[in-house]
Amino acid sequence: MNAMSTNLDLHDLGVFDLAAKLAAGQVSSVEVTQHFLNRVKSEQLGAFLATDADVSLAQAKAADVRLAAGERTPLLGVPLAHKDVFVTRDFATTAGSNMLANYRSPFDATVVSKLAQAGMVSLGKLNCDEFAMGSGNENSAYFPAKNPWDTSRIPGGSSGGSAAAVAARLIPAATGTDTGGSIRQPASLTGITGIKPTYGRCSRYGMVAFASSLDQAGPMARSALDCALLLSAMAGPDLDRDSTSLDMPAVDYATDLIAASLSRHGDSAQKHPLKGLKIGLPKQFFGAGCAPDVLLAVRSALAEYEKLGAMLVEVDLPLTELSIPVYYVIAPAEASSNLSRFDGVRYGHRAANYTDLTDMYKKSRSEGFGDEATRRIMIGAYVLSHGYYDAYYLKAQKIRRLIAQDFQKAFTQCDIIAGPVSPTVAWKIGDKKADPVANYLADIYTLSSSLAGLPGMSVPAGFGEGGMPVGLQLIGNYFKEAQLLGAAHQFQMATDWHLRKPEGSV
Ligand code: GLN
Repeated sequence: MNAMSTNLDLHDLGVFDLAAKLAAGQVSSVEVTQHFLNRVKSEQLGAFLATDADVSLAQAKAADVRLAAGERTPLLGVPLAHKDVFVTRDFATTAGSNMLANYRSPFDATVVSKLAQAGMVSLGKLNCDEFAMGSGNENSAYFPAKNPWDTSRIPGGSSGGSAAAVAARLIPAATGTDTGGSIRQPASLTGITGIKPTYGRCSRYGMVAFASSLDQAGPMARSALDCALLLSAMAGPDLDRDSTSLDMPAVDYATDLIAASLSRHGDSAQKHPLKGLKIGLPKQFFGAGCAPDVLLAVRSALAEYEKLGAMLVEVDLPLTELSIPVYYVIAPAEASSNLSRFDGVRYGHRAANYTDLTDMYKKSRSEGFGDEATRRIMIGAYVLSHGYYDAYYLKAQKIRRLIAQDFQKAFTQCDIIAGPVSPTVAWKIGDKKADPVANYLADIYTLSSSLAGLPGMSVPAGFGEGGMPVGLQLIGNYFKEAQLLGAAHQFQMATDWHLRKPEGSV
């Protein structure tokens, strides 16, 4: 195959197909990397915060040496990029904040080094909301990222750069982090696939901390199979460096999916591959709060699941509405503690002029943090303060436990819970910028499973108002990532929503 025809369609290939081409020697990692670097160079979406072609090409050359030596691992030589909350030695890490402008980490986050060991080539760092706080990527201190389906709209947040870049075929896959929905919601709003694993499945070491009891890393890619390939390399215990990482061996999430693809044209049992799977629909996820266009797409996706043999049952998650106030007490409380390290001494921005130490702290922090981070530090400090701790923080923790218990009750009636990811399609840039509460309300369907620490994913399920993508959310019980990915893969073998791409936006 000549280089021209290869290059013409390389960016339309996902991780699995690119890896196959690389393994077959039809293209080199340097060629693939150069092709994607060219796309990144001319991108107009504000998806990237840092690139360095020399670094990426050196990694690609190293992957080509491994390939030439006969090494065959599932991700070898395939490019990706990292959300800018993962610290990296090779690229600056800002966490979307002026506080960390030009910060260079002396080490790589565990997830970053695991993916590098698997042979993936990093194309750089992706835009995000400041310290991963937001739902639209408008809280980035640098510039908003844009949705490639309609560049006047947000791509979702906080992993907005990751979502925009994957949807626009600037990269085949990206890392994201999800504290209250930041993998699932941007995946939903840009028509890609993303999975937030069970809390603790991936190491948090080297992820700039937002709310430590909620933060979790995960992959964002075009298909469930591609996410499975990345998650297999990202997950696994890291107990020496993250005491909340799960002491469970890494799992191969991809092999079963590949086997399912191969047997798709088999006997008649394959017509109902999900026979016996019970999907629970929480009535609170299908109420008036969800826009009709989103509900329509979600319901058609569920009808497809029925065709595949799954059974739909109604379940009850009565505390769903409380997940918003509970999350917006607990997450800011933890954030106010985590962000106290940015004092202008140990890390981050230091004001140029100050009179004494206290003045230096005040000025450095006021200058370094944007509005949303400042708001959350203030809320967090307030709910943790003497006299308010019991009324807000402790109360929120108690309700968090009840929310987790409700999920366990629901899982006695079903295997997977499904519903929308976001109550609307992507909104216009600027529409909710001045109204933090409007942003918080848009998190209604993702917060409860985050509070419970459950795995969840977003699967492209159709289009709504303005031709914008809609995602179907699948929530699993603890450690059931394989089941979620399997159910998503079956859906993607029967539908082509995940193959649709925005035209002409790059
Ligand atoms: N939108 C939520 C917030 O602003 C979730 C963010 C996230 O998951 N990082 O906190």
